[in-house]
Amino acid sequence: MSYDYGLFIGGEERPARSGATIEVTSPATGQQIGTVARGGDEDVAEAVAAAASAAESWAATSQARRAGYLYALARAVTEHADELAEVETRDMGKPITVSRKVDLRSAPEAIEYFAGMAGKIEGRTVPVPGRFLNYTVREPYGVVAGIIPWNYPLLQAIWKIAPAVMAGNTVVLKPAEQAPLSPMALVRLAHEAGLPPGVVNAVTGYGPEAGAALCRHPDVALVAFTGSVETGQVIQRTAADRVVPVTLELGGKTPNIVFEDANLKSATAMAYAAIFTNQGEVCTAGSRLLVHESVHDQVVSGLLDLIGKQTVIGDPMDEATTLGPLLDAEQLKRVQGFVSRARDAGTTLLTGGGTRRVDGLDSDLFFEPTVFDDVDNGSELAQSEVFGPVLSVIRFGDEDEAVRLANDVPYGLAAAVQTRDVGRAVRVAGRLKAGNVWVNSWGNVHSASPYGGYKLSGHGREMGFAIMNALTQEKSVWISTR
Ligand code: ADP
Repeated sequence: MSYDYGLFIGGEERPARSGATIEVTSPATGQQIGTVARGGDEDVAEAVAAAASAAESWAATSQARRAGYLYALARAVTEHADELAEVETRDMGKPITVSRKVDLRSAPEAIEYFAGMAGKIEGRTVPVPGRFLNYTVREPYGVVAGIIPWNYPLLQAIWKIAPAVMAGNTVVLKPAEQAPLSPMALVRLAHEAGLPPGVVNAVTGYGPEAGAALCRHPDVALVAFTGSVETGQVIQRTAADRVVPVTLELGGKTPNIVFEDANLKSATAMAYAAIFTNQGEVCTAGSRLLVHESVHDQVVSGLLDLIGKQTVIGDPMDEATTLGPLLDAEQLKRVQGFVSRARDAGTTLLTGGGTRRVDGLDSDLFFEPTVFDDVDNGSELAQSEVFGPVLSVIRFGDEDEAVRLANDVPYGLAAAVQTRDVGRAVRVAGRLKAGNVWVNSWGNVHSASPYGGYKLSGHGREMGFAIMNALTQEKSVWISTR
């Protein structure tokens, strides 16, 4: 079957004005699995106009009614969970078990969480001096642009759409050109769920075309972006010209610190999951394993053991598969580049480092789980986001050194600490310069808990009430009582 999507503008699905399309291929098979429209300036202008014309009546729609549409969407996502999981996996290559157990489990829950904001977006009365009543109301911005990456396309689309519309904004979504199918399936479901025309629009297309046109459009009042640092910088600069706010969720280089007092079995399992889940194509991938020198050998040999016993590289549609293909040839080239430069620099390669063929699949994109040992924290491999199944192991001698190494990267999205010492856990969590810290765990993300980065990993918080505040502006009203 072929998955084919047009643009969603003002409640209608239609081709790009130019008629151009983008082929969507499956990384596992190299086969074309669908097409999306290649949106351009004119399409973006029409989508923004549709969103702008729906904005006033949507802002005036009660929070309870807005929530009603979202609950209907959550039900539709649950009903179509199997198809959505399949589309997600076919489009970007993650194992089907991950699509089902992570993406499709979180998807309806996230929509319901934001629907649950109904009646809770409220203002304040402020005790000002004198004869005045001063109160505040939280009002939507208007048209919000949501620009998303390809690694968790469905969830990313939900995280951009659900809170924005719940806060009373209308949305123009720009999915990533490499994995646009599940976001478009979601938007189609939103229309079927009855969301009024123009509230949720989606323009597929390339970043420098549709994405850039959306960011510079004068009627876009806020840009919510998740993606690379480089594009985030471009978007923030463009937004500065029009003085519109941006939220930026950018890259990461998560340290996973294993102290000598950790439960080493679970710490090793955590280290494995942290870098090999979703092929390492995760902003919070635990790509630096900082391990105390006294337990280094034990943890590393346990990790190599897990790689040998647990990793199944294969067809992502197969339930036994744990590691699917990388996204595309560009992504493969990027990962290979980091690996070959690290090897050329003499870094110790313990396992992996190359591609693997899978019987019956015509794809060169399957990359082996790769571990480098004794990596210099200042090296390119330890400092850059690889976005692949490539781990840097780094030894440390004491707590201060662990914290120093952990923080000594330009990113600050997440960090993990494996220890049984509760004092140390709290102390180290406090010293880590990261927006998310996981103790004796890795990768926890939930709609209720704020998520975002320090330093180059961005600013603004998604999830939780934080995002409802970010997506509304507070108006202060003064009334003289005389
Ligand atoms: P990645 O490296 O994950 O592909 P990008 O930052 O390039 O990250 O892409 C994330 C999203 O940003 C995608 O939807 C992409 O199309 C979009 N994008 C890329 N370049 C631009 C741009 N100049 N303006 C707006 N959006 C862009």
